[in-house]
Amino acid sequence: MVVALSGFIHWGQKPTKTNIWQHLRNIFPISLVLLYIMPPFSLNFAAHLRNMRDLHIKRVAEARIPTRWGNFNLVTYAGHADERMPDIAMVAENFDPRQTIILRIHSECMTGDVFGSARCDCGEQLEISLQKTAATGGVVIYLRQEGRGIGLINKLKAYNLQDAGLNTIEANTHLGFEADERQYDAAVFILRDLGIQSVRLLTNNPEKVTALERAGIRVVERIPIIIPPQLESRFYLQTKKEQMGHLL
Ligand SMILES: [Zn+2]
Repeated sequence: MVVALSGFIHWGQKPTKTNIWQHLRNIFPISLVLLYIMPPFSLNFAAHLRNMRDLHIKRVAEARIPTRWGNFNLVTYAGHADERMPDIAMVAENFDPRQTIILRIHSECMTGDVFGSARCDCGEQLEISLQKTAATGGVVIYLRQEGRGIGLINKLKAYNLQDAGLNTIEANTHLGFEADERQYDAAVFILRDLGIQSVRLLTNNPEKVTALERAGIRVVERIPIIIPPQLESRFYLQTKKEQMGHLL
């Protein structure tokens, strides 16, 4: 507002229709600078934009994807057809939306899902979810909100803070984020698009149950995903055995 007013004062002109457009054009780069130097504001703004985008997503392309757990139809959802990071629904063969289906809403975790990171159990959770949904005609919704919504780069920064002694929540807030920036509007849109009304939800997170119930989806059961707690040490020992020649 101050910037906007100062523009008019500088010109000393009445704000006619033409010079308002000129003025907006002049202050546009300043707006970008402000977004850049005010990370918390710009991050909230980014979250806001994402919500706006989620409200405008639609089903784009889909294809049959056979996996080692069974056949799925991979359905993409995006605001426009050339979106590089569409949200995804992995819909298992024999899916019937009239039934209560097993559902997993999984937020992208590049390090865990793809690279098998032992810093979290996302990779194992995704595997168990694909296995259970493939066997029962269920659905895995894969949302592109890496690192609880803060993105891969910030997640790595948070990891470094955790290595320096902060816990995961402290690390996120230290970087100017909420402890959890995830949004489930896109998931609700996808569920409605697929005609799903009733689910058995694979999750350890009660907030997801609340988010779905608030959106009118019936959560008949919450199925916890139990990952053996010794997993990190098992990976660690396995690596030592295979990569470092330890006799374990
Ligand atoms: Zn993870």
